[in-house]
Amino acid sequence: MTRTVNPGVVSGKDYQAMVAKAKAGKYALPAVNVVGNNTVNAVLEAAAVANSDVIVQVSNGGALFYAGKAYPDSFEAGVLGAVAAAQHVHLLAERYGVCVVLHTDHANRKLLPWIDALLTEGEKWYEKTGKPLYSSHMLDLSEEPLEENIETCAQFLERMAKINMSIEIELGVTGGEEDGVGQDVDLSAENSKLYTQPEDVLMAYQRLNPIGHFSVAASFGNVHGVYKPGNVKLRPEILKASQEVVQAKCNTENNPLNLVFHGGSGSEKSKITEAVGYGVFKMNIDTDTQFAFAKAVGAYVEENPKAFKHQLDPDDGKPYKKVYDPRKFLRAGEQSVSERLQEAFEDLGSIGTSAAQG
Ligand SMILES: [Zn+2]
Repeated sequence: MTRTVNPGVVSGKDYQAMVAKAKAGKYALPAVNVVGNNTVNAVLEAAAVANSDVIVQVSNGGALFYAGKAYPDSFEAGVLGAVAAAQHVHLLAERYGVCVVLHTDHANRKLLPWIDALLTEGEKWYEKTGKPLYSSHMLDLSEEPLEENIETCAQFLERMAKINMSIEIELGVTGGEEDGVGQDVDLSAENSKLYTQPEDVLMAYQRLNPIGHFSVAASFGNVHGVYKPGNVKLRPEILKASQEVVQAKCNTENNPLNLVFHGGSGSEKSKITEAVGYGVFKMNIDTDTQFAFAKAVGAYVEENPKAFKHQLDPDDGKPYKKVYDPRKFLRAGEQSVSERLQEAFEDLGSIGTSAAQG
């Protein structure tokens, strides 16, 4: 079942083989939100160090930032930023020697025109290179009635399958918000919205599986952001129940669903391991890598306070040019992100597992 995959951005059969390999090997890959070339390069560096494949993902807000905050048309900026980020990854990923999945994060109903425009870009890229620009897009229509959610995802998947793309859908609600997309829900463990119903997952499987490859962000009490311990109750057994219902009703192999764990930051290690055992192949991480970047930059500024106020040392006139060079503190941020990601690869069991050959 081992398929030889070349390093670089993967899609279609290569992507599917990677997902299958992860599930069979009971490990998962971190999906890291990026906002610029510093974070992209930190993720590629981290994956190369761990010899693990990795998922690079861009939210609409991340794409806007990538294009430049001053860009006058925010719709265009979302498209251009996402295309620029993808092109950057396509160019470099191969040279880092690992497989990289390119993905866009939460798109709710309001952001569907963004996905539409990215698919047009994806189709052009496919025409030119035989590969889609992104490996997959996520639609998050979890605020809507189940039928509408699944039906819209089915329509998008029809178009995406033609260019070897996969879709990620959301069933149930991930608490908190990710870059401006999300719902204000009660985060107490009694809130049933935070726990996906296995029957809903079955309905999605029956509708989407005949069309193409898809994954499900099923909620099991997970929340975006990091909170005080005790606020969030993760129940990975919900994922197991969903797998079992689909397997029984659709007569499939073990763990038929490709599951995604949103809000991985700050999660208990034992719950991560348990979720991965139930077919989670992707865990999103953003809050913890944001903090890793900020913490290292903060420490650098604290160590060199005068260089951030004066070009020359006010006492002896020594130039600070080499200290305030932005590369110095941006590099500190990158290294810290890469270090935090080693912990994620370790938690997810993916160290040394890259599917890339040669
Ligand atoms: Zn999320």
